Amino acid sequence: MIRLIILGAPGSGKGSQCKWITKDYDVPHISTGDILRKNIADGTPLGLEAKEYMDKGALVPDELVINLLKNRLQEADCKEKGFLLDGFPRTLDQAKALDSYLTENGLSIDKVINLHVPDEEIMGRALNRRTCSNPECKEIYNMRDNPPKEEGICDKCGSKLFVRDDDNEITVTKRLATYHAQTEPLIAYYTEKGILATVVGQERLEDTIALVKEQLA
Ligand code: ADP
Ligand code: ZN
Repeated sequence: MIRLIILGAPGSGKGSQCKWITKDYDVPHISTGDILRKNIADGTPLGLEAKEYMDKGALVPDELVINLLKNRLQEADCKEKGFLLDGFPRTLDQAKALDSYLTENGLSIDKVINLHVPDEEIMGRALNRRTCSNPECKEIYNMRDNPPKEEGICDKCGSKLFVRDDDNEITVTKRLATYHAQTEPLIAYYTEKGILATVVGQERLEDTIALVKEQLA
C-alpha cells in the first residue's frame, strides 16, 4: 500500500514513469486527464463541461476535478492499494482539498515525486515527437532520440506517423505557462511538508526510472 503523487510539466514524461510504478508497486494509476477524456468520449454531462476548458488548453474548474477525484478515491482498489496521482493536484486549492479529504479519512501521502525537465527540453521533445496514427497502437517516436526505422512509418504496426495537433510551439508554450503559474507553487507546498523528492528527467528513460526508483526505495 502506497500513496504517491507525481508532479511535472506537461511533456515531462510523467506518463512513462507512471507505467512502471503502477506495475511494480501494484498501485492504481489515477490520471485526471484520462478520466476527463473518458467522460468526453462517453458524452457525460461532466465531459461536456470539461471539454470547453480542455479544448482551450485551460484547466478544468477545481470544484469539478476535486469531486471527480474524491469519488475515485472512494473506490475499493484505492482503499485496498493506495494510489498514484498523475495530473492531480494541479493547483494549490486542489492540493488543499486533497489534504482535507485525506485528513478526514486518516490517510496521508507517502511521497511526491517532482519530475523536473527544463522548458527548452520539453519544447524540443514535443516538436520532434511523431505519433502512430493507428488508434490501437499510438506508439510514440522522437525524430531526434528514438526515430522509426523507416521515416514516417510505425515500426510496430506499419501505419503512418503524424504530428499531434497540440505538439506545436504555441500550444506547448501556453501549457508550460499554465504549469508555471498554477502548478509550480505545489513544489514549495510539498517541500514544506517534507515529502517532496525532485528527480531531473534524463535523456534516456531507463536513467530517469533508476533515479525515481532510488527516491521510492
Ligand atoms: P497533459 O495532456 O498535459 O498530459 P492531462 O492529460 O493530465 O494533461 O490533462 C489534459 C487536460 O485535462 C488539461 O489540460 C486540463 O484541461 C484537464 N485537467 C486534467 N487534470 C486536471 C486537474 N487536476 N485540474 C484541472 N484540469 C485538469
Ligand atoms: Zn503503430
